[in-house]
Amino acid sequence: MAILDQLTSQQAIDLENKYGAHNYHPLPVVLNRGEGVYVWDVEGKKYYDFLSAYSAVNQGHSHPKIVNAMVKQAQTLALTSRAFHNDMLGKYEKFACEFFGFDKLLPMNTGAEAVETALKLCRKWAYEVKGIDENKAEIIVCENNFHGRTTTIISFSNDPVARKNFGPYTNGFIKIEYNNIEALEATLKANSNVAGFLVEPIQGEAGVYVPNDDYLTKAKALCEKYNVLFIADEVQTGIARTGRLLATCGNCSCETKNCDKSPDVKPDVLILGKAISGGVYPVSAVLANNNVMDVIKPGNHGSTFGGNPVAAAVAMAALEVVRDENLAENAYKLGDLFRSELNDYIKTSNIVNLVRGKGLLNAILINDDEESDTAWNICLALRDNGLLAKPTHGNIIRFAPPLVMTEAQLLDCVSIIKKTLKQFEN
Ligand SMILES: *Cc1c(COP(=O)(O)O)cnc(C)c1O
Repeated sequence: MAILDQLTSQQAIDLENKYGAHNYHPLPVVLNRGEGVYVWDVEGKKYYDFLSAYSAVNQGHSHPKIVNAMVKQAQTLALTSRAFHNDMLGKYEKFACEFFGFDKLLPMNTGAEAVETALKLCRKWAYEVKGIDENKAEIIVCENNFHGRTTTIISFSNDPVARKNFGPYTNGFIKIEYNNIEALEATLKANSNVAGFLVEPIQGEAGVYVPNDDYLTKAKALCEKYNVLFIADEVQTGIARTGRLLATCGNCSCETKNCDKSPDVKPDVLILGKAISGGVYPVSAVLANNNVMDVIKPGNHGSTFGGNPVAAAVAMAALEVVRDENLAENAYKLGDLFRSELNDYIKTSNIVNLVRGKGLLNAILINDDEESDTAWNICLALRDNGLLAKPTHGNIIRFAPPLVMTEAQLLDCVSIIKKTLKQFEN
């Protein structure tokens, strides 16, 4: 078989199964093209993408402005390493700092690397600024978190599938219940060695758990009171996904006025990834003000690819698209429409219990237990009906389309989803 021959779906799946490590369980569909809100499989069938590569493709597949920026920069200068300066990194750092309202940015590539960076930054700040005794710093995290796959990060996961037989684990983390402000206060009060609180503004992987409207505000106030860094992992919720530039919003240049229900909360450390590149290239970043970021000195941390010229060009273009195409506003408006349509359906449904989310980060809860394969089978039927989504946990299906969707397209998707769910009503 010549490499360039067009494979059938089955041939492509067989190759992955034989030669690839089995670390994922993909929906059986083999894609070879994407544009905007659509993807196509190798047989030419067209689908709405309702996962957006876990919210990396907020700007839509192969956005021409982002792809052009990438191609142009790749043809000019792709990688210098940080041993030398390049003429794109500083421009990008200034752009992103002004965009999100922070003093400094530390560039990395993947979300997990950015989370690791934030943890290291937080610990160093704890010893050098807060004055915690060496090796004693603790970072508070939440139950059912998802922050990535490195050894340290899975050390404070409570997903047995992600953890088991990967020990020994990294110490220095205290796990508390999500959306429980009393638990946070009690932990801060009881322990003077706490350096930071790492939190997802909405728990995406856990099944799109939206905390109470005042949770983040109160958590931030407690962090201030106890001199602890509030670290927001916005790898999934950031970049307009939830109807605001950031789910925490913060002191950002966001044009939307959708901060009514959950007021601005400015993280001390902001972690971004996924859609900061529009999904065309791995780009991640940690942002903080000087009082925190300045603890990092030459040699303390780094990455060969972090902050490379292509990443810088791509991220600037991707953020411009978010601003110029009003993606936060669109996500806010379409999200409301989506949930109200689904809520209408749920009134008479036996198979769906509820829809929840913010902006275009939503999930439905299937009326069956976690071990059942109902949600998986619904996703297979959605695929057959032209829409791609995937269960997060056994009985939860996440719906997160690209934010460049139009209202007409969204209503088309809603009718596909309703039609599919009807096949499963009894
Ligand atoms: C996806 C994700 C990560 C990890 O990002 P990778 O690029 O896969 O390493 C971290 N935190 C959150 C909230 C995520 O959704």
